[in-house]
Amino acid sequence: MAASEFDIIERYFRRHAKQRDDVVLGIGDDAALLQVPPDRQLVVAMDTLVAGRHFPPRTNAFDIGWKALAVNLSDLAAMGAKPVWATLSLTLPTADEGWLENFTNGFFQLAGRYQVELVGGDTTRGPLSVTVQVHGLVERGKALRRAAARAGQQLFVTGTLGDAACALQALQAGGEAYPDLLQRLNRPEPRVDFGLALAGTGAAAIDISDGLLADLGHILDASQCGATLWVERLPRAPGLDSISDAGALACQLHGGDDYELCFSVGAGQVEELTRRAQQQQLSITAIGVVDSQPGIRCVLDDGSTYTPQGTGFDHFRDTPDG
Ligand code: ADP
Ligand code: MG
Repeated sequence: MAASEFDIIERYFRRHAKQRDDVVLGIGDDAALLQVPPDRQLVVAMDTLVAGRHFPPRTNAFDIGWKALAVNLSDLAAMGAKPVWATLSLTLPTADEGWLENFTNGFFQLAGRYQVELVGGDTTRGPLSVTVQVHGLVERGKALRRAAARAGQQLFVTGTLGDAACALQALQAGGEAYPDLLQRLNRPEPRVDFGLALAGTGAAAIDISDGLLADLGHILDASQCGATLWVERLPRAPGLDSISDAGALACQLHGGDDYELCFSVGAGQVEELTRRAQQQQLSITAIGVVDSQPGIRCVLDDGSTYTPQGTGFDHFRDTPDG
């Protein structure tokens, strides 16, 4: 390796350290020492990105750094937690300094936006793989849980669905993806602020990483409920008009990687949440209702049933996506 492990840590990871007063000890000791406020619960999430499985091998390093943090912040958003700290385990084939510069620029650009401090990690040599752990804080008892959905509640999603999947399909077919859709694949925007708006409302929430049907299914299973889903009302970005209607709908129902939030709330919360979303310049769309009959019933606007093909992505069932 050109640079030593120590050089890499000093040059690339420590440079943004010490932004937060609650970091008693950050990078540089054997472990980080962090101060959790007495009235808060600590929320912890971890996600790994493996080259060729979670991102196409030619993805640029800035986007990998951004996305590695974004997918984790998205999990905190789905819990209604405020992100505060992160740790990073990086496995690299070579100590390519240009790559490290771009990777850390992407990571710290997003970290800076939410005042997340990188407080430690591990650096090893091997096939490219990035694991991030994030730590968030939530007021005691206000975290969002998958198991909170109840029959009669309304189902919503933030943003638009299927964008990232549509871009990935274009790339995998050897073509070029629409820039807006590619941006959604490579630089997802975790819905942190809207997660904070949902905290304490009693909403059930999940972030959509494996496709709407799969992830909504997790909420419903955990809550022992079912749902009716209005498939023609799923929010769609203009770029999806470039493919067939059936193809677009498949991306919206099964496509992962958009990192929007899907949530279920009582009717009484909808007006206030709509107002909060508008303040954040984020759209939220009603996509169905929770009911007591298990399973998801997809319906068209004329009331007829729609039968979706396929399922969400499962790492141990499906073949790697390149
Ligand atoms: P140790 O041998 O005690 O585990 P390391 O040499 O692995 O320590 O790490 C030294 C310091 O650098 C530690 O504070 C560790 O958390 C930090 N560190 C190592 N790799 C990274 C990384 N990729 N990102 C952030 N901090 C890192
Ligand atoms: Mg040590």
